[in-house]
Amino acid sequence: MAFVTALKCRECGREYPIEPSYTCSWCFGPLEVAYDYDAIRASVSRESIAAGPLSVWRYADLLPSERQESVDLGAGFTPLVRAPRLAAELGLGELWIKNDTLNPTNSFKDRVVSVALSKALEFGFKVVACASTGNLANSVAAHAAHAGLESYVFIPSNLEAGKIVTTAVYGGNLVAVDGNYDDVNRLCAELAGTYPWAFVNVNVRPYYAEGSKTLAFETAEQLGWQAPDHVVVPIASGSQLTKIHKGFHELFEVGLLDEEPSVRVSGAQALGCSPVATAFLEGSEVIKPVKPDTIAKSLAIGNPADGYFAIDAVRNTGGAMAAVTDDEIVDAIRLLARTEGIFAETAGGVTVATLSRLAASGVIRPDERVVIYITGHGLKTLEAVSPVVGPTATIRPNIEAFHDAFPALEESSK
Ligand SMILES: *Cc1c(COP(=O)(O)O)cnc(C)c1O
Ligand SMILES: [Zn+2]
Repeated sequence: MAFVTALKCRECGREYPIEPSYTCSWCFGPLEVAYDYDAIRASVSRESIAAGPLSVWRYADLLPSERQESVDLGAGFTPLVRAPRLAAELGLGELWIKNDTLNPTNSFKDRVVSVALSKALEFGFKVVACASTGNLANSVAAHAAHAGLESYVFIPSNLEAGKIVTTAVYGGNLVAVDGNYDDVNRLCAELAGTYPWAFVNVNVRPYYAEGSKTLAFETAEQLGWQAPDHVVVPIASGSQLTKIHKGFHELFEVGLLDEEPSVRVSGAQALGCSPVATAFLEGSEVIKPVKPDTIAKSLAIGNPADGYFAIDAVRNTGGAMAAVTDDEIVDAIRLLARTEGIFAETAGGVTVATLSRLAASGVIRPDERVVIYITGHGLKTLEAVSPVVGPTATIRPNIEAFHDAFPALEESSK
């Protein structure tokens, strides 16, 4: 049995039954899953987790649904790799990359979708749906196919080909909407009131959001049950950042960490869609919605639902934020690939560019153990880098041609 006790309003604290709902009927605040931490502490141990599956479901006791009935394509337990060459370029010390490009549909969204669809099945839904900036579309379509569920996936019509084809291939309904993500999301909120479907990031959002905690759980486990000093997390709605912060504290709460973690949390946005970073940098509590204009489409939410909570987490932990340009994003994608052999999508470029800025300004220090979250694969946003990378030479198929080209090649690889 999952250790869930209620849905709890994050604003006023009122409690509600475990149902497909997401706002407090009293104050309209967002609802969050509440747990019986004492019961979890009595049930879990580092050993019980180590004996679990190599997926997010090894942390089932800290998730809102049952492992036995889970919709599981193997999301989670992605590598945490040391990044010494990137660290050296940026003047940092102990730097790690959580490589979430290696999930089943190549983004971190598989974590949240695996949890959301498991809960949707438990609630008895036959149809699942979502409003997506791209990666969620991939993941919902794939997990729905795996579970034999019907799916309706709504996306802005201007998404990258690498996200449209990779969603449509799973055979669900893919609806392209002439508008930006915020238009799509508003439409889905209306549809959720009309169609008896599980919209993973609308009416089952409280459960969906919990999946992001596994990024913190895995990080700590992979560091030998220790929390890092500083993490850098990309922000779209702000949910992932908020839940990573929550995840580290839950581990202490249930006795899996010996010391109370004090993880500084920093947030990364693209300048062309930076409502959260802008409010943070202005020292404001008020997030002004924007019209997105950036190559980082997976992060292009102009009116972020969890932005306020993200700012709160960053301020309370002594982290920082940055808003980076599209040129910085492209350079950072190449820097990460060149130094560590990891090809990230534009969101990863945003994270690495932010790491670079915060390292240069001294906010992230060389004495800190730093973890950055690389949340999506570069093959999904090829158009970001294809204009600036290509063959270093094109030659005829004979050895003389190579001999002729060689000096220039040797020169360019210095
Ligand atoms: C959705 C997404 C995020 C973060 O989303 P939140 O809405 O802030 O939880 C980060 N990276 C990628 C690649 C994404 O697709
Ligand atoms: Zn409330």
